[in-house]
Amino acid sequence: MFGLIGHLTSLQHAQSVARELGYPEYADRGLDFWCSAPPQIVDRIKVTSITGQTIEGHYVESCFLPEMLANHRIKAAIRKILNAMAHAQKHGIDITALGGFSSIIFEEFNLQDSRQVRNIHLEFERFTTGNTHTAYIICRQVEQASQQLGIELSKATVAVCGATGDIGSAVCRWLDARTDIADLLLVARNQERLQNLQAELGRGKILGLEEALPLADIVVWVASMPKGVEIEPTKLKQPCLLIDGGYPKNLSTKVQHPGIYVLNGGIVEHSLDIDWKIMQIVNMDVPNRQLFACFAESMLLEFEKWHTNFSWGRNQITVEKMDRIGQVSVKHGFKPLLM
Ligand code: NDP
Repeated sequence: MFGLIGHLTSLQHAQSVARELGYPEYADRGLDFWCSAPPQIVDRIKVTSITGQTIEGHYVESCFLPEMLANHRIKAAIRKILNAMAHAQKHGIDITALGGFSSIIFEEFNLQDSRQVRNIHLEFERFTTGNTHTAYIICRQVEQASQQLGIELSKATVAVCGATGDIGSAVCRWLDARTDIADLLLVARNQERLQNLQAELGRGKILGLEEALPLADIVVWVASMPKGVEIEPTKLKQPCLLIDGGYPKNLSTKVQHPGIYVLNGGIVEHSLDIDWKIMQIVNMDVPNRQLFACFAESMLLEFEKWHTNFSWGRNQITVEKMDRIGQVSVKHGFKPLLM
């Protein structure tokens, strides 16, 4: 049995989902209510691989909302993630993906030191961040979507916004080792981490976002921003491919400008319909087939019976591990979302 721990993108989103799902009493409640709400299994899932194998899983809603971080409700945020993990383990789930901010909170606040949640001793080998598969899928999107748009990688400048993060650093490693991109721009706030990454890669220019954007043919957005940024499309190159892998999205508005192409990053399309409701709730375009690559990672680990924390700790993702998860992704019928 696999599990997915997820959350909604904002308080407003949570309120509208509560209304849609027939809980009008929750629809008008503010952040305090969500801070005290316990985790719940709200979806039961069946997935069939193109090999014919079928697996079952549960979606655990953690009731975390990104506003908890913006409004200094850190203790509540931490409680949400630990309680959701304990809930998954209590229900006997063998491997669970920590979606969206769940893994970021886990790492940021050193939750590996908080293994005891009431009477449950968390077994971390039952959890995966899903970031290896997410990074692999984003890299395949860079390679394949650029080809669709006629952007030649050997002449392209790629900016990675969130380069020092778990996913961003893995994307940089892959772009360096597996592609012939002309230039790599590294964007994040902490200069020391940027310099360490540059030293590890032996390449890459460290630039601020404003300087990097006008130079880039491709921008990979994987910054852990609780709210998206506004960008001015006239300052971008044309054509420019923007791959937004953030959850919530790093780009706050839909960019509609000739020559600027926005692709949902870190999203896979399954070859067969999945029996579930949850992707409708998060407004996926084709909810029966499309899903976050991190969620797909826990499905892949269940298909292969690799009941282990395949993606764990920060900045540990190797190109070899991306290859390994990529092979089983193809084997079971998942494809990167393209234009
Ligand atoms: P990390 O916390 O490991 O890394 C975040 C990166 O973003 C760091 O480099 C950080 O560096 C940078 N960053 C944060 N804020 C800003 C800012 N305002 N401007 C510039 N850089 C910034 O996160 P992950 O790699 O785990 O996740 C990245 C994103 O991917 C998140 O939005 C997450 O929700 C999403 N995600 C998507 C998945 C999918 O399946 N599609 C799966 C998992 C995650 P610094 O702090 O120095 O600025």
